[in-house]
Order: sequence, then structure tokens, then C-alpha cells
Amino acid sequence: MALARPLLRSFQYRVPPGLADRARPGVRVRVPFGRRRETGILEELETAPDAGGARIRDVLDVLDPEPVLHPALLDLCRWVARYYVAPPGLVYRAALPPGMLGGRRAGGGPLHRQVIRLVHDLPTLREREEAFGRARRQREAFETLETLGGRAEVAHLERRLGFTRSVLAGLAEKGLATIADEPVERDPFAGPGLPVVTPGPIEPNPDQVGVLERLTARMDGPRPGTVVLRGITGSGKTEVYLRLMRRALDAGRSAMLLVPEIALTPQTVQRVRAAFGDRVAVLHSGLSDGERHDAWEALRAGRRRVAVGTRSAVFAPLRDLGVIVVDEEHDGSYKQSETPRYHARAVAVVRARAEGALCVLGSATPSLESWALARAGKWELETLPRRATPHALPGVELVDLRAEEGPAPRIFSERLHAALAARLERGEQAILLLNRRGHSTWVACPDCGRVETCRSCNVSLTWHRRRGRLVCHHCGFEVEHRETCRNCGSEALRFQGFGTEQVERRLGELFPAARIARMDVDTTSGKWSHGRILETVRRGEVDVLLGTQMIAKGLDLPGITLVGVIDADVGLNLPDFRSAERTFQLLAQVAGRAGRGPVPGEVLVQTSRPDHFALRAARGHDYVAFADREMEDRAGPGYPPHLRLANLVVSGGPEEAVADAAEALADRIERWIADDAPEGGTGAAAGADAAAGAGGTSGATAAAGLELVGPAPCPIDRLRGRWRWHALLKSPDPARLGRLLRALAADPPVPSGLRLEIDRDPEQLL
Ligand code: ADP
Ligand code: ZN
Ligand code: ZN
Repeated sequence: MALARPLLRSFQYRVPPGLADRARPGVRVRVPFGRRRETGILEELETAPDAGGARIRDVLDVLDPEPVLHPALLDLCRWVARYYVAPPGLVYRAALPPGMLGGRRAGGGPLHRQVIRLVHDLPTLREREEAFGRARRQREAFETLETLGGRAEVAHLERRLGFTRSVLAGLAEKGLATIADEPVERDPFAGPGLPVVTPGPIEPNPDQVGVLERLTARMDGPRPGTVVLRGITGSGKTEVYLRLMRRALDAGRSAMLLVPEIALTPQTVQRVRAAFGDRVAVLHSGLSDGERHDAWEALRAGRRRVAVGTRSAVFAPLRDLGVIVVDEEHDGSYKQSETPRYHARAVAVVRARAEGALCVLGSATPSLESWALARAGKWELETLPRRATPHALPGVELVDLRAEEGPAPRIFSERLHAALAARLERGEQAILLLNRRGHSTWVACPDCGRVETCRSCNVSLTWHRRRGRLVCHHCGFEVEHRETCRNCGSEALRFQGFGTEQVERRLGELFPAARIARMDVDTTSGKWSHGRILETVRRGEVDVLLGTQMIAKGLDLPGITLVGVIDADVGLNLPDFRSAERTFQLLAQVAGRAGRGPVPGEVLVQTSRPDHFALRAARGHDYVAFADREMEDRAGPGYPPHLRLANLVVSGGPEEAVADAAEALADRIERWIADDAPEGGTGAAAGADAAAGAGGTSGATAAAGLELVGPAPCPIDRLRGRWRWHALLKSPDPARLGRLLRALAADPPVPSGLRLEIDRDPEQLL
């Protein structure tokens, strides 16, 4: 039995005879825990003779008639808990819809959706007083229901409005309201603002036919395995996914498609819906709890057999899986940035293998981890080298910003300015990418040297001009902008660095007639606002779409003939081992947005580092050249995919305590390394670690090294008020690394008050 708490261990309870027939692995149970009651997942049942003496308490209730985690999912969660060294209860919670296992609401509650309706009026004040007397909350619930039109979800009344179940039950007992199940499934994609795609019948081209034949044969075979599908942008990968998924359905199996961020890929989701209609359930964090629960339940009950969703959809309760597709598999958002820190791509690979499904990892720019495994022959490699439509990839030109005159950095080079002017003249559309939002990224005083920084993070504040505020992009801290230095009162404040807000202003000055849309997290707060902005672009109501990396993804807008990258060096200069890879991926992705229609496209990339290999490879649309060079660069000092990493972050305060704890952690690690028998790594632990497909090409070699780097302050050494130090572990042997991490987690060598976070296979080290 595991509780939804940050505890690595599980607990034993006795199942009383009255509950025995419903107690099965994967159901939720209510148990006493200390002096409280908690909800947990029943993991295992064993018939043990009463141990006698040991004080084992009784399960109070079984909450589900059927397991909410079927056996394969339960195993998958346990693998995640073990591999990522995460509390199992938190993994179960992440795998289930919100609210089912604590988190937003303590306790369980029945699975079906309940609705409460008013059935009796109390028009006069006297009637109300007679009906409720001193039952004030009942009266409030009654009147709330009146304002809600006489009907509301029980879950909404409980969670959002804070009425207890007994208050609601009291209304029912008095005959004023009814509580009943309602099987309505809301459809979030029926909402406004999404492009409606009418798919014409597409004949697969010879490249697609070949890929489909081989993948279908694998899917139908006994050990389908993992396939990396590298296809340039617009090569027709999505078409391949859809046909594979249909094939799985036709064979009576189910299918899953993972996408990085649904709001950013509405077109992909629409195509899946167009292909499969009401057999699709969409799962992602933008849905309300109720919507997510509906979608999840439809899958669990088998009413829908296609799941589309973001990271956590990898745990969708599908059975008889035929295929799992991970689209844009290189995307960093597949890694969860809080406990459990799983990587959905790795989980997808493990799940597909365990359930006999095919796993397809699709991308124009595969992650080096996947690429290395495919190159080494551990995974299959398939390639779609050409665009599916007659339109060639656009030419990419690097514009050297150093050649531009002037002391301050120019936003628009002569070249980009002229190219934009030409598009506007001809009535064509352009995309401008700048991966930095706000107006100025740096507010400095030339007289006293003060730079406005966040008080809880060691980063400079960005000036958001329109809002008149300085904002921390890490923790969201905001402070009013002042015209004078807070320190010395100087009026000569300097604004350096520019973000999308400033580009938008400048664009408006240069091209007063241009219709400009900006898309970044400051302009897209609503659930479907991306879709709405994109729809205006599609309808031709926008000339220039400006935005952060969110405009780079998945857009198929045939009117775009120019893509301008304002500053390609933004990501290149980050102190992180993936900075070149991320830059190359972003450029390849955004370049793919140009020239999808009849007019050939052009891509201009502004940079001060035109000789950097990532930029040169992007210019040549040459993924292989990029990957070869990047693989070399990661050989020494070693980084994935040559070996595996685990980042251990100690955080809290004061600073000295954090530094001391990090030193103590490092000592423990060094002693462990010295004591550990290198030939170990057999049994369950090794199995769990070896099963993680993503990352590590060399497998477990005997006596493989384990290297400790650090401890040292994190690149961002203060975040949300916590000081941060880290120690980085490197090893080619995942089993040995796993043993060390579990030993550390079982007995964390940090004093209480400080936090130790273990990030296995980290996406970034900032
Ligand atoms: P990707 O997912 O690789 O970026 P898509 O599947 O989105 O590529 O295809 C890009 C465009 O090419 C889409 O407009 C799609 O309808 C079209 N397309 C895909 N396959 C074919 C084909 N065989 N014949 C004609 N057009 C195709
Ligand atoms: Zn000053
Ligand atoms: Zn901050």
C-alpha cells in the first residue's frame, strides 16, 4: 500500500473479511495513518498467517469497484518510482487524473461524475428559515445552486466552493435536491477558435509507403521494439502516425499519441480527431479536472481507444496497446520538472516494451540520446528525407550581426528589414522568432552600478513596459518600474537586451501599416488563445506573427514565406550541455514553418556567431552533420549520450548550510563509490535500470566508472528564495548509478530544513 506522500516506502495493512472481495492490486483504499485517514493505492496482496504481535491496522474501505491502475500500469508506475528514485505514491498520483489520489483534495470519492440538482423551490423567506433553521451552510449551498442555475457538479461544489459532502447530502435528505450520476462527456475541442481541418484523401508517397510497410510489420510481429522516425519538417510524419494508429484500431488494439504541448499543436490534435472522431480522448493539463476525468474514464472503460495528450498521458489507462507515438520526441517538455521527475519518452519506451506495443519516436531533429541508440542498432531507424508536398525546404541565410554598424545591438539588420518590407509589399506573411519576452532584459544604473534583480532568484528582472513592471521570469516576482535608480536616485537608467515586447514596438514604428500579432506567455493566457491567434494568421488577418519558441512548433501555415530569427544566440550562450542541441532544434523547427505553400520560403537567422557549427548545420538543413559534431563535443568531458547523468540539488538556506550539506553529500558519495563492489548490478535493481531505453549507449560494463563532479553552486544559484548547490553524477553504468541514488534517497545525508532533489537523466542543469 502506498500513500500519496513523499515517502519512499510502502505500508502494510490487513484487509478485513468484509472488504476481501473488492481488495485487488490497483484499487484505491482508505486507511488509518497516524491519527489521520489517508487514501492510497493497494499495490500487493499477500496471504500471510497473522504475524501476531506486529500491530497491523485494518483497511477502512475500498474505494473502487475495479482497479484504477490495471496490472500493467501498476508495474509501469513501480518502474518509474524505482528508476527515478521517486516516492511510489507520488507516481501513482501523477498517473491518475487530478484529485483521485489527494493533491487537490484529500481522500477519494467515487469515480463517476455526480451532479446535484435543485428539485424544490423555497420562494419565501419564511420557508427558507423553516427549512434550514441554523443549518447555515446548507442554506448557502442551496442559494449557491440557485445562482448556478439549479445544477452543479458535486466535485465543483466540494473542491472549488468548499461545501462538504454532508452539507450536500443534507439538501438531498430534505428533498430539496437530488444527487445523481451523469454520463455527459464534455468535448474541449468543440470550443471556439480552433482551426477546422477538412482532410482531403492523401495517397502516401513512396517514402511513406516504405516506412509504413516496415512499421506495420513490426507492430504486428512478436517484439515490435522502438523506432526512431527522423523526417524533415513537412515530410508527412503525422500521416504515418495516423495510418499506424488506424491499423492498430483495425486490429482491435488501442493507440497513443504523445505531443509536447497541446495548446501549441492544435493542428495535430485536430488531424487526429478528424481521423478518429469520437474514438479519441484528449488528455492534457489545460483541461479542467472534470474534463480530464471524463477523458480518462472513457479510456479506462474502453469506450475510447485512442489517447492523445501531453507528458502524463503516457499513463493513460489503455489496454491492448498497439502503438505509442511520441511526436517531437526531442522536446524538453517530456521531462517533468518536479517529483516524480520522469521522462515521458523513456516511460513510453518501457511501457511499449512491457505491453508488446510498437514505440515510434518521431522528430525532424531527434534527441542525441535516441539518435545514438538508433545508430548503435539498439533501436530501428527510419527516415523521411523529403517534403511530402512539392514545396522544397526554404533556404537559410545567416546574417552576421557584427557587420551591422552602431554601438547598440540592432534588432533588425538591413537584410531582415528589406526582406520584411518586401513581404509586406507583396501581401505575404512572415514569422519572427525571439526566444525572450518582455521589453528589456536588463535595467542597470550607470552611476552606482545597481542592476535590478529578483529578491528571491539570482537573475535580472525584465522590464515589461506595457504593464509598467519589472518581472522575474523564473519565479514570477513583480515590482513596479521606477524612472529613477532605487539605490542612488540617478535618472540615467540604462535598458539593455530586448525581448518580444520591444521588437513588437520597433516593428510598429518601422512598418506602421503592418498587422502584427505577438504570441508569448504574456499574450496567451487563455486556454485556447494560441489557437485563436493562429486562426487569425491562417485567415490572412495578420502580416507578421512574432513570438517566442511557441511559434516554432507544428504550424502548417501556407501563407508564410519569410521566417526571421531575431537573435539566434539567446540559447547558445546558456551554460548548459544541451544549449547547442536546443538551438539547432529550434532553428530547424522554425525554419520548417517557411514555404509550405506555393511561394518558396526564405529564412534569415541573425547571429553574432555565424561560425558556430549548430548554426552552420541549421543553414544546411543538415541534422547528421550537427549530430556527428555534437556527439564528439560530448565525449570529453563526458555527457549523454556517452554516459548517464544524475543531478543532485541541495537547496534551502542559509547559504553556508547549503554549501556544507552539499560537501557532506559529496563525501558520502565518494565513500559509497569506494566501498561499492563494481561487479554488482544483478537482480531487480539492474533490471529496472537497464530497462530505461533512453540515454546511455554503452550498457552496463563491468567495473564501469562513476564520476562525481562538484559540488558547486548551480548556474542559477538562488531560485525562489532558496540557495542551490549541486553535485553531478556521471556513469556509463545505469545499474550502478541507480544503486547509488537509491542508497542516497533511503538515507538522505542532508539536515532537515534543507531539500535534496534527485534528477535522473536531467534535461538541463541550470
Ligand atoms: P510532418 O508531420 O512531418 O511535419 P505532415 O504530416 O504534417 O508532416 O505533412 C506536411 C504536409 O504535407 C501536410 O499538409 C500534409 O497534409 C501533406 N502531406 C503529407 N503526406 C502527403 C502525401 N503523401 N501527399 C501529399 N501531401 C501530403
Ligand atoms: Zn544608481
Ligand atoms: Zn525570481
